[in-house]
Amino acid sequence: MTFSVSILGSGAAIPLIHRNPSAQLINVHEKLFLFDCGEGTQVQLRKNRVRLRKINHIFISHLHGDHYFGLIGLITSLHLLGRESDLHLFAHPSLEKIIKLHLESSQTILKYSLIFHAIDPGLHEVILETSAVTVSTLPMNHNFPTCGFLIREKQGKPNIRKDFVAGHDLSKDDFRMIKAGNDFIDADGHVYRHADITSPPAAARAYAYCTDTAYYEPLVPLIHGVDLLYHEATFMDDKEKDAQAKFHSTARQAAMIAKKAEVKKLMLGHYSARYKNLDGLLSEAKDVFTETILADDGLVVEVLNG
Ligand SMILES: [Zn+2]
Ligand SMILES: [Zn+2]
Repeated sequence: MTFSVSILGSGAAIPLIHRNPSAQLINVHEKLFLFDCGEGTQVQLRKNRVRLRKINHIFISHLHGDHYFGLIGLITSLHLLGRESDLHLFAHPSLEKIIKLHLESSQTILKYSLIFHAIDPGLHEVILETSAVTVSTLPMNHNFPTCGFLIREKQGKPNIRKDFVAGHDLSKDDFRMIKAGNDFIDADGHVYRHADITSPPAAARAYAYCTDTAYYEPLVPLIHGVDLLYHEATFMDDKEKDAQAKFHSTARQAAMIAKKAEVKKLMLGHYSARYKNLDGLLSEAKDVFTETILADDGLVVEVLNG
């Protein structure tokens, strides 16, 4: 089952020719979730051949422009494209007023329902639960109320052994009953124990999106053991003081969080525009945590069981 993260924007603050501000598309079992929507996100979605109408949930980490300046454009385009289904938006309460002002000023009445969910960025709580995932907020330490997001796949159902399926004429109801945890009784009254005819489902996977934040250890227990952690790494070590002053992290600090949280893999991003070459950021992080990769616009990362 799919669980992937498409990087639409991996830069900080200012859009560059080859690097857009923050936005990521998360695909869990073919359901699409957008995390942040920096300027240019619509174009990036088109480049990635994403069907826009398949996005039903958008999450905004905070109201610095590099994380949401693409949103009003996307909301309007969905309207122009004739969207009718509901769109759920999760963000700091102020965003509702901003969107309203834009729409009223342009006398736009959306053809679809935009359902706004105000979130409290200071809390760690579940804000969405679907049949496939839960999404929780992760408080960040930034100079504006900010939260990251933790998206956790729900535990799947057990798999029925192929040799058992091949040897028995199972109806749809039989499949459903066995998947639900029941034994199977054949026409002759022979009982097959559930444990003998199934194998356990794959472990549920989790992805944590952490941006923007200074080094913040209270995050560690909240993301412990996730299969993939995205952590902002705006600066290199020599700019640690700048990072602290601006409530951002260095690549090494991102790696320290990954190590303490015993995550399976770390992905860096939200790079300052000063870095034309990202090798330094990667090597400073790898000094602390080997399983580190660099986010890059266009990159798609599969979230794998660690
Ligand atoms: Zn930012
Ligand atoms: Zn910010």
